Amino acid sequence: MSEKIEFQTEVAKLLDIVINSLYSEKYIFLRELISNASDACDKLKYWSLMNQNAAQNTGAFKIVITPDEKENTLTISDNGIGMSKDDLICHIGTIAKSGTADFVKNVKDNGSVVDLIGQFGVGFYSAFMVAKKVEIITKKAGEEQAYKWMSDGLEGFEIEPTTKETCGTDIKLFLKDDAKDFVDTVYLRHIIRTYSDHVEYPIVLNLGKAGEETVNTASALWTRNKGEITEDQYKEFYHHISKNMDDPWLTLHFKAEGSIEYNALLYIPTTAPYDLFQPDRRQSLKLYVNKVFVSDKVEGLMPSYLRFVKGVIDSSDLPLNISREMLQQNALLSKIRQGTVSRILKELKKRVGNYEDYLKFWNAFGVAFKEGIYEDFSNKEEVASLSLFASTYDDVKLTTLDEYISRAKENQKDIYYITGDDVATLRHNPQLEAFKEKGLEVLLLVDPIDEFWTQVLGSYKTFAVKHISAADIDLKIERQDKKANEGELKKLVDFMAELFKNEVSKVEISEKLTKSPAALNVENGQMSIHLERLMRNHQQQTAFASSRILELNPYHPLIIKLSEMISEPDQKNEIADVSRLILDQAKIAEGEAVSDAGFFAEKLSEYILKGM
Ligand code: ADP
Ligand code: MG
Repeated sequence: MSEKIEFQTEVAKLLDIVINSLYSEKYIFLRELISNASDACDKLKYWSLMNQNAAQNTGAFKIVITPDEKENTLTISDNGIGMSKDDLICHIGTIAKSGTADFVKNVKDNGSVVDLIGQFGVGFYSAFMVAKKVEIITKKAGEEQAYKWMSDGLEGFEIEPTTKETCGTDIKLFLKDDAKDFVDTVYLRHIIRTYSDHVEYPIVLNLGKAGEETVNTASALWTRNKGEITEDQYKEFYHHISKNMDDPWLTLHFKAEGSIEYNALLYIPTTAPYDLFQPDRRQSLKLYVNKVFVSDKVEGLMPSYLRFVKGVIDSSDLPLNISREMLQQNALLSKIRQGTVSRILKELKKRVGNYEDYLKFWNAFGVAFKEGIYEDFSNKEEVASLSLFASTYDDVKLTTLDEYISRAKENQKDIYYITGDDVATLRHNPQLEAFKEKGLEVLLLVDPIDEFWTQVLGSYKTFAVKHISAADIDLKIERQDKKANEGELKKLVDFMAELFKNEVSKVEISEKLTKSPAALNVENGQMSIHLERLMRNHQQQTAFASSRILELNPYHPLIIKLSEMISEPDQKNEIADVSRLILDQAKIAEGEAVSDAGFFAEKLSEYILKGM
């Protein structure tokens, strides 16, 4: 008896997008279905080895493609793991992964379904680009009952028990009128070779009376010799393994020999995945043991800061029946990790000098990569040396720490940095004025992560890494220009200290400012204003609030003028208003909000008008 089940809302939405849009790259459905068939063979291979079940077919895995010109159907068959009734309901028809909602949103924003289908693990549904009806007949390994699943991709699907001799899955597509090309064997051969050549199982084209023909190379790409692999083959494999449609920025294929032997074929994509910074984002390298796929969820195979690296690691030295928990602590695994990480860093080192090229990598992955400076203790200096930073040296071009050091002043002992929300605002931060005046370069750091690695790194080569507020150097600027009168200035300082006693801990005269009348600073050793803001945004602030210092520039005409007015009793209100504007201005320069926006706006207009 057949059972009718409705599609989950997300699936229905997704199918609606897939069915109703016009794509020229319809052929990708075949790549997706072949990839699922190949995954199913991987799973059965592993399952059989683990279960030692002699009855299961473990030998001749293959994927058979059968076009039928008369019926106008195309069938993709595999003798892999198959699906149970639950599998059919859970994996085809519902989408457990949270990614689907993101997918639908991403398609709406960017429009390219083809690029996104594989990435979001919704490849099966691409069948509906070419099929008006899909029929699945499948039997799961180890089970007696086979099932038939049918759907037109509109409201839902039907499931009924059926018979099937061996385990595996046949997916029959009833082709739409505009998809008749897909029964043409010449065309099929072409798209299979172009997009699925890397599949390690034979992909066989069933030519009916004319027999069967294996179309692909059918051997695991990573076990072949480098010299035998073309760039296109590497690229195609990358598309398969990463589910990305971009070109790899880096392809790294090597065989490690020594205490542990393994093959690695690794890629760094050109574009970042949509979920690079989602907390549940994990590394996704595929681990094989002697060509048997074990898992793509092995924690600890790649450190988190390299979570964007895609590819395969295959070692015969690992035990096949290793459980996931054991994998985490496995010493061999940690050797593999150390080995691959150092190879990746070595490759990055070769390319860091080529700015235009490296910038592509950096723009896509730099923020994640920098996490390595505090995450990877043994490589922190190496990761730092491969990182790029905005700096006061150049308005556009980013710098490495080594370039920074090469430009350091003769007696300079520190690498200086300032942190904030964005580079453009930071460039105008009054705290930088003295550094500019003295020709000292300052790194402009704007990623939340920067607050943390700077603490952990401590120093780079012989240079201490220091926030500018912690710089213990003489930043006094020698000047001839007019300065406010000492006595009056003292009175102004006291006046402001009293006025702002709830907002700043101190008001001080500073010899470090040039253009700005005032600036905010923190006591040496305290948390930077930016970090405090980050903590506050995460509701963690109260325990840490650092005390602010309001610094006044005694050479600034505004401060000189206020000092002159301070002794006149009837000017107190005006001085208070202008003082408040000065504090607000200093806050804005720090990326802070002013305390009373209404007051600020009103007074600003009032004074602008006076000046006009
Ligand atoms: P993904 O392959 O990224 O998981 P798909 O939409 O391509 O996403 O497939 C969804 C799921 O359906 C697969 O994860 C798998 O569990 C199941 N599936 C699809 N095709 C097959 C098949 N030929 N054999 C066994 N299971 C399959
Ligand atoms: Mg798939």
